[in-house]
Amino acid sequence: MSEYSNPSAELRARVALEKYRFKNTHSLGQNFLLTEGLISMLLDDAEVSPSDNVLEIGPGAGVMTRLLGERAKRVLALEVDRGLEPVLVDVLEGLSNVRVVFQDVMKVDLRALIEEHFGGEDYRVVANLPYYITADILLKLAGSDCPPVSICIMVQKEAAERVMSCPGTKQWCALAAELQFYGQARVLTDVAPEAFDPPPHVMSQFIRIDRWDVPPVRPSDPALFRRMIRAAFAMRRKTLVNNLKASFGMSQDAARQALIDAGLDERVRGEALTLEELNRVCDAMRS
Ligand code: SAM
Repeated sequence: MSEYSNPSAELRARVALEKYRFKNTHSLGQNFLLTEGLISMLLDDAEVSPSDNVLEIGPGAGVMTRLLGERAKRVLALEVDRGLEPVLVDVLEGLSNVRVVFQDVMKVDLRALIEEHFGGEDYRVVANLPYYITADILLKLAGSDCPPVSICIMVQKEAAERVMSCPGTKQWCALAAELQFYGQARVLTDVAPEAFDPPPHVMSQFIRIDRWDVPPVRPSDPALFRRMIRAAFAMRRKTLVNNLKASFGMSQDAARQALIDAGLDERVRGEALTLEELNRVCDAMRS
């Protein structure tokens, strides 16, 4: 079969973008990956298999979406830009296991969507994320009541470094702590700006976060634990006592006592603490 009767995903996208005179919107983070060889390598690294349900955030021109559709069981792609609809219709033609929903990822009811499209089965996230909301998307996925079993995403290298950071380092932040509570992160590969169309001004990394089978901490109240993480990093140079007072409305004495009961120095700063230590403070507050 010739390339013309069965065009590649890349050719389909390039033709469709031209045909509909699509103009990328910088503010939506529209730096597309169109090179099929590179995307195939990324999906090999992500180990996408025929039993996978995949949620893609931001299909763009749909090259990754089409390749996902050819490898996975089902693909649900969430795109905010309706202007991409005709492009995606052409690029995804003939794939009955791929659905595109035009909605803002930050506004969707994740559980309802997962129930509707994957029948409540496990799912994975694979995406070249819009960089302007990377952290918000990761927090929404990891903190949801139906978190994915893994997240394989292209992010700005700086964001990857924050995600991968450890307690006691300058990079350690609420995002890193919340993600460490969700799963184990690693870098799959570096990707240079020239791989994108148009090229962003930053280096990128394709990273993978696997949800823990056995989480490193088991808070008795996960919602309180997440609030504690946010409180710990709320005002970085303040002591945890001050952050507890501001975030939980505790008195100075009650906040100091919680730290002492958790076996911590009362002058400690929240950003210096490990997940396990933050969990001890939660337990002390509850008792
Ligand atoms: N996956 C495509 C690729 O690799 O070429 C496009 C990736 S591009 C970096 C990010 C995509 O996310 C764009 O298509 C953009 O329109 C979409 N996007 C931006 N904000 C979004 C949001 N809030 N919800 C859903 N999609 C969004």
